[in-house]
Amino acid sequence: MSFVEHLIIGGGISGCVMALHLEKRGSDFKLIEAQASLGGRIQSTDQGLDLGPTWYWPHQHSVKALLEELNVQSFNQYTQGDYVYQAGPNSPITQGRDQQAMLSHRVVGGMGAVITALENTFPTNKVLLNAPVSHITKQDDVWQVKLIHGGELSCNQLWLAMPPRKIAQLFSSINNETSDKCVLSEALISHLQAQQTWMSAQAKFVAEYKTPFWRDAGLSGQGFSRVGPMVEINDASGQNPESTCALFGFIGVPAVNRQSIDKQQIINACVTQLGKLFGEAALSPINTHYIDWANNEFISTTADINEPSQHAHFDEARFKAELNRLNLGLIGSEFSQTEPGYIAGAIEHVNEQAACL
Ligand SMILES: Cc1cc2nc3c(=O)[nH]c(=O)nc-3n(C[C@H](O)[C@H](O)[C@H](O)COP(=O)(O)OP(=O)(O)OC[C@H]3O[C@@H](n4cnc5c(N)ncnc54)[C@H](O)[C@@H]3O)c2cc1C
Repeated sequence: MSFVEHLIIGGGISGCVMALHLEKRGSDFKLIEAQASLGGRIQSTDQGLDLGPTWYWPHQHSVKALLEELNVQSFNQYTQGDYVYQAGPNSPITQGRDQQAMLSHRVVGGMGAVITALENTFPTNKVLLNAPVSHITKQDDVWQVKLIHGGELSCNQLWLAMPPRKIAQLFSSINNETSDKCVLSEALISHLQAQQTWMSAQAKFVAEYKTPFWRDAGLSGQGFSRVGPMVEINDASGQNPESTCALFGFIGVPAVNRQSIDKQQIINACVTQLGKLFGEAALSPINTHYIDWANNEFISTTADINEPSQHAHFDEARFKAELNRLNLGLIGSEFSQTEPGYIAGAIEHVNEQAACL
């Protein structure tokens, strides 16, 4: 069993930012990620199209500061022109202009560029991919972590950068399947179970085009629909629309209902909807992408899928003493006390925790 001083479990932005801090401090650490690549909910295509988060907002200075540190560029979301709206299946498509559209920022190369830049700040031998953790126990003040596919690691300080419900599942299954006593209190486990993972029941559709034809027609690419399958659509083109032009939308069909619908059926319905809203040119995308986050076993849980969408409210003060006593840090974005669920919340929370080291 190999020993490290700090072990981070979960390679989304929270785990990666903690790795950046530990690397800068010269600490001995390892980052373990269940999936084949780092990023967690952050996922972009090779063309920089975001399949997970897309935006950060002007007040979120922690994101801006991280981008500056990593030398990653940003640009403003395209909102010039009219939005389109369909109120019902038999309603005409109407156009309007949002004079007070909220400014939002996007990352050049997609949010995935932030993860790539973070990855470049620490050596690859400190990262273990395709390594889902199955078992966590503590003996004589040392954490012991088992991986599903074999292998064990131990550490003094454990950082869990996973969605709260995934942490609860992990510790509850240890309780049920083995005679080991769960190290977390029942109160903490049930509080973790109550925290929904933001956007984890969402699905997103992206259609790539040769040209941003909607812009030429005076449209912003924004669309709102009470018909669906997409309920909100936005321009997803890159900073340079000559290289990547796209529209993306959030699917309004609830996750439970999506499970019985064929993926291709949803894709076809999305393309048809774009045609109705933005005209015939929208019926011929050069490429499409569809991602259903509810199907990601390392992010989403049955509880997330069955509840109306809401932000987590983790009561950090209530469990501070227990976590300190255990040398355990909970650092996913849902643990943020400032902006739970958002990238900014994740970065701020990790920065705060790292400052206490
Ligand atoms: C469709 C969508 C749109 C969004 N839009 C925005 C937006 O525009 N702006 C914004 O600020 N936020 C947005 N968000 C939220 C944002 O993505 C999250 O706040 C942020 O990415 C969470 O990062 P994290 O590292 O805390 O958690 P995650 O990204 O969830 O990372 C957790 C990691 O833990 C790993 N893991 C889980 N279980 C195990 C295990 N047993 N062993 C090892 N590893 C494990 C997972 O594989 C994952 O990589 C959006 C999210 C989605 C899904």
